[in-house]
Amino acid sequence: MDFKLEDGLVESGYWLVKLRWVAIAGVILTVLFVDSVIGVTLPVFAISALALFLALYNCIFTVFLYQFSRAFIRLQISLDLFSLAVLLHLSGGIENPFIFYFIFHMIIVSTLLTLRESYLEATFTVLLFLGITGLEYSGLLSHYPLKGFGTEGLYLNKIYITGVSFVFISTLYIAVYMATSIAAKLRQREKSLQEANLLLEEKDRIKSEYVLSLSRDIKEHLSSIETCLEPLTQGTTGQFGDDQRDLIRRASAKTGKLAFFVNALLEVTRLKLSPEIERGYFSLKRAIENAIKSIEAKSAGKNIGVSVVIEPGIEMARGAQIYIEEAIGNLLANSVQYTPANGKINIEVKDMGASILLSVSDTGIGIPADELPKVFDEFYRARNARDVIREAAGLGLSIAKQIVERHSGKIWAESKENGGSTFYIELPK
Ligand code: ADP
Repeated sequence: MDFKLEDGLVESGYWLVKLRWVAIAGVILTVLFVDSVIGVTLPVFAISALALFLALYNCIFTVFLYQFSRAFIRLQISLDLFSLAVLLHLSGGIENPFIFYFIFHMIIVSTLLTLRESYLEATFTVLLFLGITGLEYSGLLSHYPLKGFGTEGLYLNKIYITGVSFVFISTLYIAVYMATSIAAKLRQREKSLQEANLLLEEKDRIKSEYVLSLSRDIKEHLSSIETCLEPLTQGTTGQFGDDQRDLIRRASAKTGKLAFFVNALLEVTRLKLSPEIERGYFSLKRAIENAIKSIEAKSAGKNIGVSVVIEPGIEMARGAQIYIEEAIGNLLANSVQYTPANGKINIEVKDMGASILLSVSDTGIGIPADELPKVFDEFYRARNARDVIREAAGLGLSIAKQIVERHSGKIWAESKENGGSTFYIELPK
């Protein structure tokens, strides 16, 4: 099976460039130490020139890193194979046991190129190997023996040449076969995962569209019920007895709660289905002030102090102010809701270089450790929160999450049951 690898081409190119710098360093170190440490003599000048050539074309490839195409990757690989062949020719040819380093190259090739291309590169390697061996054997190319290594003269020994050639060529093709099979399996698995992911996204979209139309219908009916209940609660249709008034009041309160729930559901679904949010620069301080205003009455009622610390220098944030205000407002509303009277809420904003980190901490009931990862899920409510407030939508955090993710940001929480909670929003600048 042939796979195209257009994705991640730049990363592959970058990887090759990095590997090549390591190889160049290896060649230089070998040249420097092989003579003095193990007493093997090499043509230092020619090998240094080759290292320079390698460094030169690696610099050129680094400059053109972001224009990598498949042909460019293949050119790099072919040049590398050629350079490795020249290096081996300069260091004993077939007598050099490092000849098997070509195998590493074949493995790299098999992970980057298609099956056909990998076998073509393997054949190019075989031709280079046979070319050097044959030309050295016939004397058309001078032989550079590894003086002191004890293999001198083997390049003229027919049995040695046949044996090494057979082992080398078969190992090369087996390596390509094995590496391409593994790479193909991995790619196939990645492809299946991507397809499954796309399918899930599509299913999620269909579900959201269904929820959206259903919520709209429910909202409409609820509005009609509220309209019918209004004259009854206001007593404009005549007076009722205490029991009837109580029933009407309860029906009206429940309808109000249901309307709030449906509106939250509508909002989270709309956010999911809406395209990109329009962004601009806005004052984060003002957004925080507005969010605080939305909970002021409740926090004052419970005597909960709200403090704000914004690191100097943070003025503007990028995004849709109204949405960010809503996300912060949701975190604050939870903090007020789940913090007992006389508690504290602290809002902090820090400059993280590439991003802005906003945190909302409280001295509230906290979240049980096993439930912490689920609180951003739609409708999820921790058991201790249900004890404090029986009826709530469980949608505030998922709305905040949608908003933050739409701003390419991150949202998470740290909390301990009975030990308060801290919610973080990180927004890229
Ligand atoms: P709701 O507040 O309507 O239940 P949310 O989506 O806003 O829904 O929050 C989900 C759950 O996360 C809450 O039910 C609660 O268990 C937990 N939670 C959120 N904020 C806090 C907080 N500040 N302190 C304790 N628990 C919290």
